[in-house]
Amino acid sequence: MLRFAPFGVRCVVMASVVIIEDELRIRELVARVLADRGHDVETSSTAMDGLQTVVRANPDLVILDMGLPDLDGSELLKMIRAVSEVPIIVATARSEDRDVVRTLDAGADDYLVKPFSVEQLEARVRAVLRRVGADGRPGPIVVGDLSVDAAAREARLDGERLDLSPKEFDLLRFLAERAGEVVSKRELLAEVWRQPYGGSEKTVDVHISWLRKKLGESAAASRYLQTVFGVGVKLVSPDDV
Ligand code: CA
Repeated sequence: MLRFAPFGVRCVVMASVVIIEDELRIRELVARVLADRGHDVETSSTAMDGLQTVVRANPDLVILDMGLPDLDGSELLKMIRAVSEVPIIVATARSEDRDVVRTLDAGADDYLVKPFSVEQLEARVRAVLRRVGADGRPGPIVVGDLSVDAAAREARLDGERLDLSPKEFDLLRFLAERAGEVVSKRELLAEVWRQPYGGSEKTVDVHISWLRKKLGESAAASRYLQTVFGVGVKLVSPDDV
Protein backbone atom coordinates (compact mmCIF):
# COMPACT_ATOMS: atom_id res chain seq x y z
CA MET A 1 0.00 0.00 0.00
CA LEU A 2 1.08 3.56 -0.62
CA ARG A 3 1.97 5.36 2.52
CA PHE A 4 3.37 8.76 3.39
CA ALA A 5 6.51 8.81 5.48
CA PRO A 6 7.04 12.04 7.35
CA PHE A 7 10.64 13.18 7.10
CA GLY A 8 10.91 16.57 8.72
CA VAL A 9 8.27 18.61 6.90
CA ARG A 10 8.91 16.54 3.82
CA CYS A 11 6.58 13.78 2.77
CA VAL A 12 7.82 10.92 0.65
CA VAL A 13 5.54 8.46 -1.10
CA MET A 14 6.74 4.91 -0.57
CA ALA A 15 5.35 2.10 -2.59
CA SER A 16 5.67 -1.61 -3.25
CA VAL A 17 7.20 -2.14 -6.67
CA VAL A 18 7.62 -5.26 -8.81
CA ILE A 19 10.41 -5.12 -11.41
CA ILE A 20 10.16 -7.60 -14.29
CA GLU A 21 13.45 -7.52 -16.20
CA ASP A 22 15.62 -10.36 -17.51
CA GLU A 23 18.87 -8.40 -17.70
CA LEU A 24 20.60 -8.88 -14.35
CA ARG A 25 22.54 -5.61 -14.42
CA ILE A 26 19.50 -3.45 -15.15
CA ARG A 27 17.30 -5.42 -12.73
CA GLU A 28 19.75 -4.92 -9.88
CA LEU A 29 20.35 -1.26 -10.66
CA VAL A 30 16.64 -0.39 -10.79
CA ALA A 31 15.97 -2.43 -7.63
CA ARG A 32 18.77 -0.69 -5.76
CA VAL A 33 17.72 2.82 -6.83
CA LEU A 34 14.11 2.22 -5.76
CA ALA A 35 15.07 0.46 -2.52
CA ASP A 36 17.34 3.41 -1.67
CA ARG A 37 14.29 5.65 -2.11
CA GLY A 38 12.49 3.61 0.54
CA HIS A 39 10.29 1.51 -1.74
CA ASP A 40 9.62 -2.21 -1.11
CA VAL A 41 11.00 -3.96 -4.17
CA GLU A 42 10.48 -7.46 -5.60
CA THR A 43 12.04 -8.65 -8.83
CA SER A 44 11.34 -11.27 -11.49
CA SER A 45 13.47 -12.26 -14.46
CA THR A 46 10.76 -13.93 -16.56
CA ALA A 47 7.27 -13.00 -17.69
CA MET A 48 5.60 -15.99 -16.04
CA ASP A 49 7.30 -15.45 -12.69
CA GLY A 50 6.54 -11.74 -13.02
CA LEU A 51 2.84 -12.35 -13.55
CA GLN A 52 2.70 -14.62 -10.50
CA THR A 53 4.58 -12.05 -8.42
CA VAL A 54 2.20 -9.26 -9.45
CA VAL A 55 -0.87 -11.39 -8.62
CA ARG A 56 0.57 -12.45 -5.26
CA ALA A 57 2.14 -9.15 -4.14
CA ASN A 58 -0.58 -6.78 -5.46
CA PRO A 59 2.02 -4.00 -5.81
CA ASP A 60 1.52 -0.23 -6.18
CA LEU A 61 3.67 -0.12 -9.32
CA VAL A 62 5.14 -2.48 -11.93
CA ILE A 63 8.24 -1.75 -14.01
CA LEU A 64 8.10 -4.01 -17.04
CA ASP A 65 10.80 -4.82 -19.58
CA MET A 66 9.41 -5.32 -23.08
CA GLY A 67 12.03 -7.87 -24.18
CA LEU A 68 11.61 -10.92 -21.93
CA PRO A 69 12.90 -14.44 -22.68
CA ASP A 70 9.67 -16.41 -22.33
CA LEU A 71 7.02 -13.96 -23.58
CA ASP A 72 6.91 -10.58 -25.27
CA GLY A 73 6.50 -7.80 -22.71
CA SER A 74 3.48 -6.42 -24.56
CA GLU A 75 1.71 -9.78 -24.14
CA LEU A 76 2.53 -9.77 -20.43
CA LEU A 77 1.24 -6.18 -20.22
CA LYS A 78 -2.15 -7.35 -21.54
CA MET A 79 -2.18 -10.30 -19.11
CA ILE A 80 -1.46 -8.03 -16.14
CA ARG A 81 -4.10 -5.56 -17.35
CA ALA A 82 -6.65 -8.37 -17.49
CA VAL A 83 -6.28 -8.96 -13.76
CA SER A 84 -5.03 -5.67 -12.30
CA GLU A 85 -5.26 -1.88 -12.56
CA VAL A 86 -1.76 -1.49 -11.13
CA PRO A 87 0.23 1.37 -12.71
CA ILE A 88 2.81 0.00 -15.17
CA ILE A 89 5.94 1.72 -16.43
CA VAL A 90 7.30 -0.01 -19.50
CA ALA A 91 11.05 -0.09 -20.12
CA THR A 92 11.76 -0.52 -23.79
CA ALA A 93 14.66 -0.36 -26.21
CA ARG A 94 12.15 0.38 -28.97
CA SER A 95 12.11 4.12 -29.30
CA GLU A 96 9.97 4.38 -32.43
CA ASP A 97 6.89 6.47 -31.80
CA ARG A 98 4.44 3.85 -33.01
CA ASP A 99 5.77 1.29 -30.51
CA VAL A 100 5.45 3.78 -27.71
CA VAL A 101 1.91 4.68 -28.75
CA ARG A 102 0.99 0.99 -29.01
CA THR A 103 2.44 0.33 -25.56
CA LEU A 104 0.48 3.18 -24.00
CA ASP A 105 -2.67 2.07 -25.84
CA ALA A 106 -2.16 -1.44 -24.45
CA GLY A 107 -2.47 -0.03 -20.95
CA ALA A 108 0.97 1.17 -19.85
CA ASP A 109 0.93 4.33 -17.71
CA ASP A 110 4.32 5.59 -18.78
CA TYR A 111 7.46 4.38 -20.49
CA LEU A 112 11.23 4.60 -20.30
CA VAL A 113 13.42 4.21 -23.38
CA LYS A 114 16.62 2.26 -22.75
CA PRO A 115 19.26 3.26 -21.97
CA PHE A 116 17.68 5.46 -19.29
CA SER A 117 19.34 7.39 -16.50
CA VAL A 118 18.67 6.95 -12.79
CA GLU A 119 17.18 10.47 -12.81
CA GLN A 120 14.74 9.53 -15.60
CA LEU A 121 13.74 6.38 -13.74
CA GLU A 122 13.13 8.28 -10.51
CA ALA A 123 11.20 11.04 -12.29
CA ARG A 124 8.89 8.54 -14.02
CA VAL A 125 8.29 6.59 -10.80
CA ARG A 126 7.52 9.80 -8.91
CA ALA A 127 5.19 11.04 -11.64
CA VAL A 128 3.23 7.77 -11.79
CA LEU A 129 2.98 7.47 -8.00
CA ARG A 130 1.82 11.08 -7.85
CA ARG A 131 -0.94 10.32 -10.34
CA VAL A 132 -1.95 7.29 -8.29
CA GLY A 133 -2.00 9.56 -5.24
CA ALA A 134 -4.39 11.77 -7.20
CA ASP A 135 -6.83 8.85 -7.28
CA GLY A 136 -7.50 9.54 -3.66
CA ARG A 137 -5.45 7.29 -1.44
CA PRO A 138 -3.17 9.60 0.60
CA GLY A 139 -4.49 12.55 2.60
CA PRO A 140 -3.45 16.20 2.23
CA ILE A 141 0.13 17.35 2.75
CA VAL A 142 0.31 19.98 5.47
CA VAL A 143 3.05 22.61 5.58
CA GLY A 144 2.48 25.23 8.27
CA ASP A 145 -1.04 26.64 7.76
CA LEU A 146 -1.06 25.46 4.16
CA SER A 147 -2.64 22.15 3.14
CA VAL A 148 -2.45 20.61 -0.30
CA ASP A 149 -4.90 17.84 -1.10
CA ALA A 150 -3.94 16.02 -4.30
CA ALA A 151 -7.06 13.86 -4.31
CA ALA A 152 -9.42 16.83 -4.10
CA ARG A 153 -7.07 19.03 -6.18
CA GLU A 154 -7.54 21.64 -3.52
CA ALA A 155 -5.16 23.83 -1.53
CA ARG A 156 -6.10 25.79 1.58
CA LEU A 157 -4.30 28.50 3.50
CA ASP A 158 -5.53 29.14 7.05
CA GLY A 159 -8.56 27.03 6.11
CA GLU A 160 -9.44 29.26 3.14
CA ARG A 161 -9.57 27.57 -0.24
CA LEU A 162 -7.03 29.04 -2.67
CA ASP A 163 -8.22 29.87 -6.17
CA LEU A 164 -5.42 28.32 -8.24
CA SER A 165 -5.11 27.58 -11.94
CA PRO A 166 -4.44 23.90 -12.77
CA LYS A 167 -0.75 24.63 -13.38
CA GLU A 168 -0.40 26.67 -10.20
CA PHE A 169 -1.92 23.78 -8.30
CA ASP A 170 0.43 21.25 -9.93
CA LEU A 171 3.40 23.45 -9.07
CA LEU A 172 2.30 23.90 -5.47
CA ARG A 173 1.59 20.19 -5.09
CA PHE A 174 5.00 19.24 -6.44
CA LEU A 175 6.74 21.69 -4.09
CA ALA A 176 4.61 20.44 -1.18
CA GLU A 177 5.61 16.86 -1.88
CA ARG A 178 9.21 17.98 -1.62
CA ALA A 179 8.68 20.54 1.15
CA GLY A 180 11.86 21.73 2.81
CA GLU A 181 13.91 20.71 -0.22
CA VAL A 182 15.28 23.06 -2.87
CA VAL A 183 13.86 22.16 -6.29
CA SER A 184 15.56 23.51 -9.41
CA LYS A 185 13.59 25.30 -12.12
CA ARG A 186 14.88 22.73 -14.57
CA GLU A 187 13.37 19.95 -12.50
CA LEU A 188 10.09 21.86 -12.24
CA LEU A 189 10.00 22.20 -16.02
CA ALA A 190 10.60 18.46 -16.35
CA GLU A 191 8.17 17.37 -13.63
CA VAL A 192 5.36 19.93 -13.65
CA TRP A 193 5.48 21.05 -17.28
CA ARG A 194 6.83 17.70 -18.54
CA GLN A 195 9.45 19.52 -20.61
CA PRO A 196 12.69 17.75 -19.59
CA TYR A 197 14.73 19.24 -22.40
CA GLY A 198 12.99 22.37 -23.62
CA GLY A 199 10.95 25.07 -21.98
CA SER A 200 11.89 28.38 -20.47
CA GLU A 201 12.76 28.92 -16.82
CA LYS A 202 10.86 32.20 -17.20
CA THR A 203 7.67 30.11 -17.27
CA VAL A 204 8.52 28.81 -13.80
CA ASP A 205 9.37 32.32 -12.52
CA VAL A 206 6.04 33.68 -13.73
CA HIS A 207 4.03 30.88 -12.13
CA ILE A 208 5.93 31.21 -8.87
CA SER A 209 5.16 34.93 -8.75
CA TRP A 210 1.45 34.21 -9.39
CA LEU A 211 1.50 31.56 -6.70
CA ARG A 212 3.17 34.00 -4.30
CA LYS A 213 0.37 36.51 -4.86
CA LYS A 214 -2.25 33.88 -4.06
CA LEU A 215 -0.34 32.90 -0.92
CA GLY A 216 -0.35 36.57 0.07
CA GLU A 217 3.38 37.07 -0.14
CA SER A 218 6.00 38.62 -2.41
CA ALA A 219 9.57 37.82 -3.41
CA ALA A 220 10.76 40.61 -1.09
CA ALA A 221 8.65 39.36 1.81
CA SER A 222 8.46 35.64 1.25
CA ARG A 223 6.89 33.22 3.69
CA TYR A 224 6.16 29.84 2.13
CA LEU A 225 8.09 30.12 -1.13
CA GLN A 226 11.79 30.63 -0.53
CA THR A 227 13.93 31.35 -3.57
CA VAL A 228 17.47 30.06 -3.30
CA PHE A 229 19.34 32.25 -5.74
CA GLY A 230 20.93 30.34 -8.59
CA VAL A 231 19.62 27.02 -7.29
CA GLY A 232 15.82 26.99 -7.25
CA VAL A 233 12.89 27.30 -4.91
CA LYS A 234 11.63 25.49 -1.83
CA LEU A 235 8.35 25.40 0.03
CA VAL A 236 8.77 25.85 3.77
CA SER A 237 6.61 26.44 6.79
CA PRO A 238 7.09 30.08 7.86
CA ASP A 239 7.26 28.83 11.46
CA ASP A 240 10.42 26.88 10.63
CA VAL A 241 12.30 29.78 9.06
CA1 CA B 1 15.23 -7.65 -21.74
